[in-house]
Amino acid sequence: MEFTYSKFLAIWQVFALVLSGLAIVTGIVIFILHKLRFSSIRDYKQKYDYLAANDSKMIYYVIISFAVALTLFINTVYNATVQISYVWFFVRMFIAICLGTLIIYISYLMMKFAYPSTLEKKMKKWRYKPRVNKKTGNVMKLLSEEEEDVHLDEGMQAEENVFSVDYDVWVDEESGDVQIEKYPGHLIAHQCNSCGFKTMKLVKEEIILAPTEHTDGEMIKNYQCSYCKAKRTKTVKVAKLSQTESHYELPVHLHFKEEEKVNMVTIELNISNGKTKIYEFTSTKQASEFLKEYKLED
Ligand SMILES: [Zn+2]
Repeated sequence: MEFTYSKFLAIWQVFALVLSGLAIVTGIVIFILHKLRFSSIRDYKQKYDYLAANDSKMIYYVIISFAVALTLFINTVYNATVQISYVWFFVRMFIAICLGTLIIYISYLMMKFAYPSTLEKKMKKWRYKPRVNKKTGNVMKLLSEEEEDVHLDEGMQAEENVFSVDYDVWVDEESGDVQIEKYPGHLIAHQCNSCGFKTMKLVKEEIILAPTEHTDGEMIKNYQCSYCKAKRTKTVKVAKLSQTESHYELPVHLHFKEEEKVNMVTIELNISNGKTKIYEFTSTKQASEFLKEYKLED
């Protein structure tokens, strides 16, 4: 009995160490492949999309690989004690699994709540990095949010609960070339005013005033923090419908994002029942129009 147990332990030792090494190698390979794939992408927009789709996932896989490696490695330590009785073998295994699970759980929480702000910074860098016109080689400029606004697809206009799409419009001032990039609005997480995490996400959109061919519409975006569940609303303008689909007409006076002094206006209303309501606007004009119109509902 004693002999077979120690023989088993010897095999276990080799087995766990080899697997632990393999798990570390797997983690390193995933990390390197991720970095290689990212740097092989030339287009900034595609880099952005790649990060959005893969970055958190890949980093999480790397962490899992290392956690598994550590779990397996712990199963090879304190051999002298484990030799005494098989009970210690299970005690060691239990502690190892608990520790591994804890690491994976904590990193899951970090990837879900803390990492998005880091990722957003990384993604923003590629989203706003000046584009170069492939035809002329000129550096392009990004139109301000006010001008590009929200362009809804034909089919989406009538729907109430649509998730908007953000368009970035890059203009080559010399040649007049336009490059339009589409970003899913719901992917972007904003900073939560209550908990400070960048976990405020778009959950619902309501069109309160439908746009026509001649007038702008208005839409309320409802956000909720995925961490502390705080809510917030924001009113945005929906651009006039363009006659021809997917045709973007440049405004007469170009107004670029870099010229804007005010990025965002936040209005916090402290209501008598102790509640607070926070509204965000992309310009002072929008904010003052909102205040003029504001009536306390309910
Ligand atoms: Zn929050």
